[in-house]
Amino acid sequence: MNMKEFLQKYPEEEENIRNVRKTYPMKVTNYYLGLIKEKGDAIWKQCIPDLVELQDTVNDEDSLLEEDHTPVPCLVHRYPDRVLLLASNKCATYCRFCTRKRKVGKQVAVTRETLLNAFDYIRKHPEVRDVIISGGDPLMLSDEEIEFILKELRSIPHIEIIRIGTRIPCTMPERITPKLCEILKKYHPLFVNVHFEHPMEITPESTRACTMLADAGIPMGNQTVMLKGVNDKPEVLAELFHKLVQIRVKPYYLYQADQIKGTEHFRTTVQETLKIMEKLYGFTSGICIPQFVIDAPGGGKIPITPEYCQYMNQDGIVLRNFEGKVVEYKNPKKVESKKRIAGQILRIAVVFNLKKAAEKNMPEDAYAEFDAIEVPMAIKNALERKGYIADLVEADENFFEKMKSGKYNFVFNIAEGLNAGARESQVPAILDMLGIPYTGSGVLTQAITLDKTRTKETLIYHRIPTPKYQVFNHWDEKIKPGISFPMFIKPNGEGSSKGIRNNSLVHNEKDLRKMIKFVINTYKQPALVEEYLDGREFTVGVLGNNPPRVLPIVEVTFDHLPDGINKFDSYEVKWYWDNPNNPVDPVVCPADVDDVLKNRIEQVALKAYKALGIVDLCRMDIRLDEVGIPNVIDVNALPGLMPNPVDNSRFPKACFTAGMSYDDIIHTVLSEAMRRNGLYAEARKIKNANRNPLQLSRQG
Ligand SMILES: *Cc1c(COP(=O)(O)O)cnc(C)c1O
Ligand code: SF4
Repeated sequence: MNMKEFLQKYPEEEENIRNVRKTYPMKVTNYYLGLIKEKGDAIWKQCIPDLVELQDTVNDEDSLLEEDHTPVPCLVHRYPDRVLLLASNKCATYCRFCTRKRKVGKQVAVTRETLLNAFDYIRKHPEVRDVIISGGDPLMLSDEEIEFILKELRSIPHIEIIRIGTRIPCTMPERITPKLCEILKKYHPLFVNVHFEHPMEITPESTRACTMLADAGIPMGNQTVMLKGVNDKPEVLAELFHKLVQIRVKPYYLYQADQIKGTEHFRTTVQETLKIMEKLYGFTSGICIPQFVIDAPGGGKIPITPEYCQYMNQDGIVLRNFEGKVVEYKNPKKVESKKRIAGQILRIAVVFNLKKAAEKNMPEDAYAEFDAIEVPMAIKNALERKGYIADLVEADENFFEKMKSGKYNFVFNIAEGLNAGARESQVPAILDMLGIPYTGSGVLTQAITLDKTRTKETLIYHRIPTPKYQVFNHWDEKIKPGISFPMFIKPNGEGSSKGIRNNSLVHNEKDLRKMIKFVINTYKQPALVEEYLDGREFTVGVLGNNPPRVLPIVEVTFDHLPDGINKFDSYEVKWYWDNPNNPVDPVVCPADVDDVLKNRIEQVALKAYKALGIVDLCRMDIRLDEVGIPNVIDVNALPGLMPNPVDNSRFPKACFTAGMSYDDIIHTVLSEAMRRNGLYAEARKIKNANRNPLQLSRQG
C-alpha cells in the first residue's frame, strides 16, 4: 500500500497528517503501511500521525540530555568505553514515539566533514572500544557511505566492536541486500541491533532480512520500547520475543518510553512494565527476555528487575522465585579475621549466663535477668559480620580457666554472675585480674547498681532525685518517720523487675508487712521499701562515653492493662503482657514528652550515669513524682540486648528508634569499650577497614 492508496481508504486522516507534519516529520514505507490491518492497530499507532502529538505539554524535547554529552557534532560520549555515532538523520519510517523526534528527518544531512571530525575524536580517545552507529537510521545511507564509515572505524586500532542500530529490517526489509551483507561482513566483529515493537512486524520479508544478516555472521539484538496500546501486554511481548529468537535475534533491551515531547500518549507506568517482566522471568526461556532499562534523564540506561530479593545481609540472601516460593542462598562463612588488638589478632569472648527454667523451690522469676541463648548468639553474629572472631563463653564455675587459657583478648560482657550479692561484678573482677578488657561497667559500678540501697545513697549524695526509702532486714522493723503510704516493696538486689509483683504496691501497714516478709523469705535478702510515685514511667538508655548520649526516651504505658493489674512495671507486666504473643504494646518510643520534660529526664539520666561511674551503656527507670520531677527508680548497668524488635527489649528499642541497627548497637558498645581501653587507634583502623573495599580498589 502506498500513501495515496492509504488516503483513499482513510480520507479523514489527511488533515490530521497535514497538521502534525507542520511540527513533526512523517514518512512511512509502502511495505510498513501495508502491514496495517485496521485503523488504530499496533502498526498504525506507530507510524500514522495523531493530533495528540501536538497536545503534549508535559515533556521536554531532549529528555535524555544527550546534548550534554556531545563533544563534537553527531557523537554522543555518555559511557566510558563506547560512543554513539549519529551518522544519519533519516529513517525509512518515522516512528511517532521516536526518542530523537526533534532531530530525525529535520536537520541537514550529516556531512563528510562532520564524520571526519567524529573519527578524529574517537582516534584521540583510546578508551573507546565500541562504536554504535545510529541515527536516524544508518542503513538509510548508501552502501558506499556505509562502507566508508566502517572502513574508517576499523582503521582505528582501539575499536574492538562496531554496532549498527537500525529499524530497516522491520520497516524496509528490502534494503537488506546481498551487497550490503557483503560489505558488513568485512568489518567483523560487527553487531546489528534491530528494532521490532510488535509480533505483526515479524513477516516473511523481515524474516528474510534478518536471516541474511545472521547468515553474514552478524549477531543481532533487538530493542523494544514499551508503548501503550501497541505492546503493553505480556502475551504480546512474549509472542514478539519468541518470534525474534526464531529469526535469530536476541531480545536485548526493553525500554521504558522516554519523556519526549509529542509522545506522552505512548507512555506506560514503570509498575506496568515490571508486572510484565514478572510474567516473563521463569515462565519463558531466558534467551527470550530482554533487560528492562530506563533511560532516565541525566542518568543513562539503568537496569531494573522485579523485586526478587526479600532480604539480604552479610550472611546471604532470601529470595522469592517466579512462582513466589521463598528460598535462601547462604554466603561462604568468614573464617579468619585480620583484626588486631595491640598487635594480636582480636578474639572476642561473648560472656553470658544462660537463662534456665526455674527449679523447684525457686521463685518462677529466679532467672528472669539471665539471657536466653538467642542474645549471646545475636551478639556473636553481629561481631562476626564485622569480621571479628567471636565465641560464646558461659560465665560458669570454670570461667576463670577459660579466660586464663589466653584464647581471648577481649570480652563482650552480658553476664549477670552467679549466686552472690554483687554477682554482676564477678566477670569484671576476673577479667580485671587477668588484664582482659571488656565492654560495660567495672566491678564497683556493677556492685553498686545491683544494690538498690547503695545506688540510692550514691544518687542522694549527688542530689539526684530518687524516692524516699527504708531498708528492712526483718519484716517487723519499725517504720521510720518521713515515709508515707502508698509504698512499694522490692528486693534490694535484683533486676528485670524480679521480685516486683502486682501486689508490691501497698496502701496499709498490714499489706506492707506481708510483702516485706514475702521478699525477704523468697529472695533471701533485705527488702527495699520506697514511697510510691504515681507519675509517668520512663526507661532511658544511655550509650557511650565522652560524652555519653541519651537515647530516645521510652515510655512504659499502663493504660491498656486490665482492671486489677497495677500500673507499674511488675514482673507480670514485663513478661506476661509485654510479650510478642500479646497484642498490647505498653512500650512507646520515642515517648511523647515536651522539650522541658525531655531535657529534665536526660539531665537526670546523665547525672546518674556519671555519679555511678557507668561506662559504655546502661538503662535507667525513671518515674515522675507528683510535681513532675523525674526520679531515678532503678539503674541497670547490664541492660537486656534482645535482638528481635518484637521482644520489646527496651534498650535495643531505644537504639532502633535512634536509627541504629542491632549490629550498630553491638559495634558501638565494642568500639566505646576499645576506646576506653586505649585501643582507639585499632578501633579506628577496624572502622576504616570496614568501609567498602570496592571503592579503594577502584581508585587503583
Ligand atoms: C544506549 C547507548 C549506548 C550503548 O549502551 P549499551 O548498554 O552498551 O548497549 C551508548 N551510548 C549512548 C548515548 C546510549 O544511549
Ligand atoms: S527508526 Fe529509530 S530513529 Fe528512526 S524514527 Fe524510528 S525510532 Fe526514531
